[in-house]
Amino acid sequence: MKQEIITAAEFKQSLGTGHKPTKYHAQKVKDCPACGFTHDSRAEANRCRELHALKATGAVTHVDVHPSVTLERGIRWKLDFLVHLPDGSMRYEDVKGYETEKFKLQLKMYLTSGNPIPLHVVKRDGTEKFGGERE
Ligand SMILES: [Zn+2]
Repeated sequence: MKQEIITAAEFKQSLGTGHKPTKYHAQKVKDCPACGFTHDSRAEANRCRELHALKATGAVTHVDVHPSVTLERGIRWKLDFLVHLPDGSMRYEDVKGYETEKFKLQLKMYLTSGNPIPLHVVKRDGTEKFGGERE
């Protein structure tokens, strides 16, 4: 009987393609069709498209892409969007697949900065939460 010998790499491959990489590699999206800017991830570009679609319906009046806010000691923090609503209110949005420690710290600094505009963290799956909420 002939025995088949496969390499470790082949064996790994034979385990199937259902395995997703554990680490999330963000893919930049250049020349976004909705705003013309570069987005740091596909999720951010998708949210941009959604926001501009909402703008077309009138649910959103204006979208600023990549606004920056000032944190303590003059640290600038670049967010993904500043969304203007028809009632005159605004909200910042940041799209995050995974909240890093750095992000959590920046968020904490933002919440204590006295900026009255709420910050929503938009997850890659489309769920949204107010930045000040505890999980
Ligand atoms: Zn865009």
